[in-house]
Amino acid sequence: MKKNINISSAEYSAVLQEFYEYFETGYKFEEFLKLYLEKIGLDEVAVTQRSRDGGIDLTAVRNGIGDLGGQDFITYCIQAKKYKPSNTINIKDVRELAYVANRNKAMGIFITTAKFSKSTKEEFEGKQVTPIILIDGKTLVDSCIDNELGFVYKYIFTGLVRCGCCGSLMTCETKVKDDKHSYNYLKCNKLRSKCSQKPLNEAKILKQLENELCLPFAISDDMLKNIKAEVKKRLKEENINTANLKRDITIKLHDLDEQIKTLFRGYIQGKCDEKMYNELKTEIELEKEKLQEDMDRYLEIDTETDEILANIAEVAANVGKFLKSPIISQKRDILKLILSDCKTDGKNLCFSIVKPFDKLLKTPEINKWCEILCNYRTNFYDDFIKLNQNLRCFI
Ligand SMILES: [Zn+2]
Repeated sequence: MKKNINISSAEYSAVLQEFYEYFETGYKFEEFLKLYLEKIGLDEVAVTQRSRDGGIDLTAVRNGIGDLGGQDFITYCIQAKKYKPSNTINIKDVRELAYVANRNKAMGIFITTAKFSKSTKEEFEGKQVTPIILIDGKTLVDSCIDNELGFVYKYIFTGLVRCGCCGSLMTCETKVKDDKHSYNYLKCNKLRSKCSQKPLNEAKILKQLENELCLPFAISDDMLKNIKAEVKKRLKEENINTANLKRDITIKLHDLDEQIKTLFRGYIQGKCDEKMYNELKTEIELEKEKLQEDMDRYLEIDTETDEILANIAEVAANVGKFLKSPIISQKRDILKLILSDCKTDGKNLCFSIVKPFDKLLKTPEINKWCEILCNYRTNFYDDFIKLNQNLRCFI
């Protein structure tokens, strides 16, 4: 279904360019296409091996419907080309795909971030026995918007920023200067007489965030791997300790139960009066309660948490990447995840960073990340569990 999001052609070009730049390699583009093709309803989508003949990059099928005995089953050969949006695909490449598709009795789909020439479209669209589906950059972006793949939000900051002057939620709008120039801005809707906050340019505050968040979080893949390995190792050690502590608590709890029994016997035998009995009993019960609380905490922590900590490290290390993603919802999700109390401060954004990202951001010594992560889990267990739920859109 068409979402009918109004995007000017200038915005289109910008989005398409960002989209193209986002995929570092052709392979990354193909991985994205796998998600895309699944989303639009194809089955068994697979990125093929490099050596596959005819340069087919992905394959897919569409399973037949109902009880038609699979006669409407379709195989697809998909060719992907991550070229500059301004480039035009050579008609020979499309002909080659058509040849391979025909040979495999398959339907061909050619997907690119670039364009097709008019003659290519005329030759292939709907005119062959086996037509080739041509998806150019613009169609792809359109289709992603329609299928809510990454482009659900037009604005990154909707609902995320408060006015530093009056406290209202800032709204987002687009200013179209002409067909080639337009920009998004954040605006406070309070009357001018009541609030003096001027509109903020979205691109400028994104730049501010990039400077303040992307650079400090940029760590290499190797470093990330080390952190994850270290976290795993440490949690293993901790689990052993926890098991020992739990055993100790169980023994202590048992002792305390015995003490209560002894006390009761003493009371029955008249060794102490009722007041004393009650006082001593309350004391022991309080101690028991405290131990039980510790026990409950250990029981909670003792679940599979190394994976969660690794995920936090993974997301932290990729904050910059998410923030630069052409997929608006991804930019939005990462900001929603790591920022709190986001408000305007003149022309800038003033914000706090949620735990444990705040500490990770301030700690360039990567070898300390492991400790920060483990302490976060131990000392802010409820936050930790909540954060884990919010991490799901990134993992
Ligand atoms: Zn205001």
